[in-house]
Amino acid sequence: MKMAQIIDGKLISKKVKEDVAKEVASYKEKGINPTLAVVIVGDNPASRVYVNSKKKDCEECGMGSLEYAMPEDTTEEELLALVNELNNRDDVNGILVQLPLPKHINEDSIINAISPEKDVDAFHPQNVGRIMLGGAKFLPCTPAGVMELLDAYGIDPQGKDCVVIGRSNIVGKPMALLLLARNATVTVCHSKTQNLAEKVRNADIVVAAVGRANFVTADMVKEGAVVIDVGINRLENGKLCGDVEFEGVSKKASFITPVPGGVGPMTRAVLMKNTLATIK
Ligand code: NAD
Repeated sequence: MKMAQIIDGKLISKKVKEDVAKEVASYKEKGINPTLAVVIVGDNPASRVYVNSKKKDCEECGMGSLEYAMPEDTTEEELLALVNELNNRDDVNGILVQLPLPKHINEDSIINAISPEKDVDAFHPQNVGRIMLGGAKFLPCTPAGVMELLDAYGIDPQGKDCVVIGRSNIVGKPMALLLLARNATVTVCHSKTQNLAEKVRNADIVVAAVGRANFVTADMVKEGAVVIDVGINRLENGKLCGDVEFEGVSKKASFITPVPGGVGPMTRAVLMKNTLATIK
């Protein structure tokens, strides 16, 4: 039976991190020790997992990592004071404040306070603007990871009809901009889109970033389409799955990303690249 080629995010992310590690080593020879500071507030278990994996990635790349774990009842002022301190420290290159933050802290205030020069998530309005205009120093980790996967498999978005499902500030919107920058014709679908299945069926490249298991089914996908699954959903049995009904869709697509092992590891690898980019 025909089966899509699996886009191996684990393999590609390993290569990206190996390249980062080489560059880190050459910076260290010059006495520069690239360092990422990660701030976590409260004890959200998913955030804890993400923060631990970022630490591990830094170790793998030979990069320094500093962790600031603050209690749930940290005030916005206290967090702003820490961000300010990290902004001013020469031995800290990248700053990442793990989201979501507790409800009493305004996330926008914190994002706006991070120095755009150290904003490795590329969430600061100045960096978001640069993504829109082109010539950005940092690209948002998940959409940039998707672009790296396409490139690694020789999939050129130029002239292709691309459908991005989801319009969040961290995935859907910047994903659409990055595809547009590579001359794709981009349609962005979201929760108010009418005839979504019809639009997805027209796509040469589909990027699903919805957060709903089995949202994209085989009947919605054109024969030979490239299907990128950004979603991370936890099923009742504890298993992780994406937004794409993998079994069925993989029989129609030409390329497909698995979950886990697709976009997720690439997001982490791009974070390492961005941390290096702070010192370039
Ligand atoms: P979000 O909740 O902020 O956005 C979801 C988007 O889906 C919204 O824009 C909404 O309009 C759209 N949507 C919701 N219901 C819809 C429907 N019925 N039809 C069409 N569109 C609909 O989520 P997000 O932060 O963009 O993340 C999306 C998914 O990607 C989540 O599962 C998240 O866990 C995952 N994610 C994965 C990575 C990674 O590294 N792989 C990184 C970030 C997010």
